[in-house]
Amino acid sequence: MSNLPDEAFRDTIGTIDDSGNRKFIFPKKPSGRFYDYRKIVSYVLLAILVANPFIKINGNQFMMFNVIERRFNIFGFPFWPQDFYLFVISMLVGVVFVILFTVVFGRIFCGWICPQTIFLEMVFRRIEYWIDGDRGSQSRLARQEWNAEKIKKRLLKWTVFFLISFGIANVFLAYLVGSDQLFLMIEQGPLKQASNFIALLIFTSVFYFVFVWFREQVCIIACPYGRLQGVLLDNKSINVAYDFVRGEKEEGRAKFNKKEDRALTGKGDCIDCFQCVHVCPMGIDIRNGTQLECTNCTACIDECDNIMESVGLPKGLIRYASEDEIVKKEPFKFTNRMKGYTAVLFILLSVFVGMLFLRTNVEAIILRLPGQLFQHKGDKISNVYTYKIVNKTMNDYNDIHFELIDQKGEIKNVGNKNFKIKREETAQGTLFIEINEAILESDKTTVKIGVYNGKELLETTKTNFLSPRSFN
Ligand code: SF4
Ligand code: SF4
Repeated sequence: MSNLPDEAFRDTIGTIDDSGNRKFIFPKKPSGRFYDYRKIVSYVLLAILVANPFIKINGNQFMMFNVIERRFNIFGFPFWPQDFYLFVISMLVGVVFVILFTVVFGRIFCGWICPQTIFLEMVFRRIEYWIDGDRGSQSRLARQEWNAEKIKKRLLKWTVFFLISFGIANVFLAYLVGSDQLFLMIEQGPLKQASNFIALLIFTSVFYFVFVWFREQVCIIACPYGRLQGVLLDNKSINVAYDFVRGEKEEGRAKFNKKEDRALTGKGDCIDCFQCVHVCPMGIDIRNGTQLECTNCTACIDECDNIMESVGLPKGLIRYASEDEIVKKEPFKFTNRMKGYTAVLFILLSVFVGMLFLRTNVEAIILRLPGQLFQHKGDKISNVYTYKIVNKTMNDYNDIHFELIDQKGEIKNVGNKNFKIKREETAQGTLFIEINEAILESDKTTVKIGVYNGKELLETTKTNFLSPRSFN
């Protein structure tokens, strides 16, 4: 894009004015095919986002990220600290997935899927259009003195924004501490659940601040993903892009004149109407090329298509396209880099699914008591162990006991032979394994232990059994 005359935009961002102050953006209300699609996608995703912490599968919350108690549920599968490797892999899959999408489709995540964009553009901004009107009315209202109309509109808007922020904070809290805990707080009142209530107020304030004032600055300043795009995109990545070859042609962009035939004058198809700039929620001019601020929201595609239609020129001056497609007219190609990312994504996904299926509902760790060797008990050798059993399920197990598998001998649990473990609880204790010395073939035998609930084998684990060195 080096043929563009003014490159000053590269040194500034659209939301800061010359004196370094915040320039508040009043984007024009978008309309068009992509905006309609985005509305559908956004409201479906919003419904999923809100419903997730309130859906239960086998008693497990569908999605929960309880960082404080280190309990995570993903798609109804409970993840314990012992399952942390699975959580890490699922996060890696997410990261590679987003990277692959960025390499191929640019910032499609930002424009279509990111909760920040969805809440800002499809919830808060739409309410703002409803209360304050479109771009012109909004900027007039912002500039005008405080009169009855402004006070009424601001009070209404800020109240509605606060209530929505409070609603989002409740959902957010349900993700963090669990929906049961949230309902308990509603039932018991804020005084008995002070820490959760304070968290709720903090989250409400943060969301209110973000959606009333900070807005697009989240994408520009705070979001690391927006910064990453510079290293992920290349000339083959599909982005919301201005077709500068067609838009500028030999003579550059020029205002529309219905009396002239643009094809004969050499003027570009861009009629320099600035509608794509006015509609942009990030305050940038897409005609300057791919920029850090652009979230690929598609509003400028719709707006330019509307303009092109009204002046009788073909649509698609701004469209989803790669740099190579615009400059070299090259169709989309699945590059080696994309293939590499896809392979990594596929491998990670396979590992994750495999581990998910191999993961057991009960985890047992049985370790020899440190410093203890073995004891003779008549013709038997006895070793002492500590055990820890984690019940990751939402079921109580009432008849837990240990049995040796593939090895004759006896396990004696200190205390009751059979015991209980409640749902999502752990049990720990001490046990002895006794094996007849005559059948031992080595001074160190690996023994396999089954953890049973009644007759149901829940988990198997291995440990070492030591005995005297009396073997030839
Ligand atoms: S909306 Fe289209 S025609 Fe108007 S300035 Fe933007 S690119 Fe040019
Ligand atoms: S340049 Fe276009 S796609 Fe990018 S943020 Fe602005 S309106 Fe959205």
